[in-house]
Amino acid sequence: MSTTITLHCNRSWADGACTVRLYTDAPSITEARGIGRGLGWRTHPSGQDFCPGHSGTSPTPASNVFYLTQSAGPAQHQGAPEGPTPLETCDTAARELRTLAAATSHEIVTNPYWHSENAERGLWFTNGVGNAVSGPPGVLAGLLDPVAARLLAQILGSHRNTQKPIPAEVFLLARAIQRNRAR
Ligand SMILES: [Zn+2]
Repeated sequence: MSTTITLHCNRSWADGACTVRLYTDAPSITEARGIGRGLGWRTHPSGQDFCPGHSGTSPTPASNVFYLTQSAGPAQHQGAPEGPTPLETCDTAARELRTLAAATSHEIVTNPYWHSENAERGLWFTNGVGNAVSGPPGVLAGLLDPVAARLLAQILGSHRNTQKPIPAEVFLLARAIQRNRAR
């Protein structure tokens, strides 16, 4: 089993604290913070993390705040993970899904294996996958037909032209897709 690191927002008030957490699949706190950084999280030098919504309202003075952004100087601190940005990861996963969706649509039309008399045309993919893989795994795999894959690609690419942080779940989904694809 791989370890996972969860970042917790440390913003607190007299009557409570922020409950925002970022679940990452990073094996170390440094890598987890690297992921968080790309999603708008910020880490104070004291080791406290703040969610995107509270990155600008830290109870600590601004001069003591260490801004962890992808492009700013302080982000190049030692141990920062190198590699694709969250946006690039989402783009790559979206492209991958679109390519596979197109190829799968073509395959379903041209390969008689999928042409079932027991299922309507729109369900040929789900039906064929269910026949090939028995039980819940086949049902689960069959859910991601080309139509669903294209919609998923749209969600993964929807942050391309916005300045808003990419939701953690969207990024982790993109990374899971890439990992499974590279298996
Ligand atoms: Zn927060």
